[in-house]
Amino acid sequence: MIILKTRDEIARMRVAGQMVAQVLSLLESQVKPGITTASLNALAEEECRKRGAIPVFKNYPNSRGGPPFPGAICASVNEEVVHGIPGKRVLKEGDILSIDFGVLLDGFAGDSAITVPVGEVDPEVARLLQVTEESLMKGIQQALPGHRLGRVSQAVQQWAEKNGFSVVREYVGHGIGRAMHEDPPVPNYGRPDRGPVLKEGMTLAIEPMLNMGTYKVFTKIDDWTVVTQDGKHSAHFEHTVAVTSHGPEILTLR
Ligand code: MG
Ligand code: MG
Repeated sequence: MIILKTRDEIARMRVAGQMVAQVLSLLESQVKPGITTASLNALAEEECRKRGAIPVFKNYPNSRGGPPFPGAICASVNEEVVHGIPGKRVLKEGDILSIDFGVLLDGFAGDSAITVPVGEVDPEVARLLQVTEESLMKGIQQALPGHRLGRVSQAVQQWAEKNGFSVVREYVGHGIGRAMHEDPPVPNYGRPDRGPVLKEGMTLAIEPMLNMGTYKVFTKIDDWTVVTQDGKHSAHFEHTVAVTSHGPEILTLR
């Protein structure tokens, strides 16, 4: 069931979304060769504590029966697609780091992700980041009342594939509101005539994951970290978006 939000509820989601955006900007400014992903995680946790927000990823149950997620952020490096566990890994020049962060603030969720270059990266990797963010924006532009959700999915996929990258199938975006994950699932691929008709008051987390090689992925032995099957790089961008009568509103805009 898709839960429609009132204007007041969207206003509260905007507050949560803006907090997520501010923390991601802060984390982005800290990314440089020599730091660990654990240090970024500690910073995110500290910001949650200061602002009275709940870091929703922390202790998130594992659908594979493994341990709950230990971090406030997902930190996914290079061939890691999503759900990387922050830890002692030291970032080095040329890496890319996807930071995914979500909170519950005043009863509402915000969820956003960015992929950040560590120092100077290979031009083709830089292009992957750019096209992934662009594909997110192409999808968001289609989040209009009266459109089927498939229009969003198709726009993401077309831009990704036109630019020579592949779209991860196994992980998708989601509705979001009082819970981090609500209906409907938001795939980053598919036909424009599929999916529910979008309505004013729907709130969606749109989150393309693009790979340089195959779209196929697998989960590592830690039961969390998703990596590309061919070991090539992957990027991830995400925004929480409200469908409104005057167009899509990006609640996590930085
Ligand atoms: Mg996220
Ligand atoms: Mg999400």
